[in-house]
Amino acid sequence: MAVTDYHVHTARCGHAGGATRDYVLHGLSRGLTEIAITDHVPLYFLPGEDPEPGLAMTRGELPEYVEEVLALREEFRGRIDVLLGIEADYAEGHEETLTALLAPYDWDVVLGSVHFVAGGWIDAPGAGARHEREGSANLWNEYYRLVAKAAASGLFDVMTHFDLAKKFGHRRPPECEAAEDAAVAAARAAGVAAEVSSAGLRKPVGEEYPGPALLGKLVAAGVPLVFSSDSHAPAEVAWGREQVVAAAKAAGAKEHVTFRKRVPTPHPL
Ligand SMILES: [Zn+2]
Ligand SMILES: [Zn+2]
Repeated sequence: MAVTDYHVHTARCGHAGGATRDYVLHGLSRGLTEIAITDHVPLYFLPGEDPEPGLAMTRGELPEYVEEVLALREEFRGRIDVLLGIEADYAEGHEETLTALLAPYDWDVVLGSVHFVAGGWIDAPGAGARHEREGSANLWNEYYRLVAKAAASGLFDVMTHFDLAKKFGHRRPPECEAAEDAAVAAARAAGVAAEVSSAGLRKPVGEEYPGPALLGKLVAAGVPLVFSSDSHAPAEVAWGREQVVAAAKAAGAKEHVTFRKRVPTPHPL
């Protein structure tokens, strides 16, 4: 039986705490059989070596990040599988830069995330006010347009926090359902998975990503699922795992997937 957490950060991103090894140890204590370390990719689409020190590792830190994860894989071999992953931003027009950045490494799983929407972060502190300023429907439509492009890009194995724009409580307006459905269809067509993440339960919206209706659509479309916590502290590893598994089952899911070398394997739920 595969007991997994597929979205775990490290202190390198500048907004997570604790030693990476402690994330693995906490996962072990929670009964995980595998943990994918997936820190934020360097912000390759913004100028400069370290454009936002509180948001992501630098380009220079990427090789040592990979080395650390591979060393943990060796140390914990036989107790818990430590996977080499990364959470990579999707940035329209910068696809080749990301491809080149990821190419040197033998990833187990590459998460695809849309955090940067219409010229700004959709999830940073204070970003909730953008919904009032710029129009919630505009933001949601643009957000889902980018999720669909990201899914279709072939760059990613798993789409993260599929309805992230709700983070501060601004739920998807009814008129944006077509954009949401197009993103689901794009994920289905590309064969990418989606995460069921407990992170939303810790945010103002108070609901897992994706919410029940959207999760039902993803399952009905045949989009595979992974489970994740989006941990930014060791104690968050496997946090809310029972809730996200229950949410997947309630949505009709019969299995989840694991990845090795970017190849998915299904497991019964
Ligand atoms: Zn993210
Ligand atoms: Zn994350």
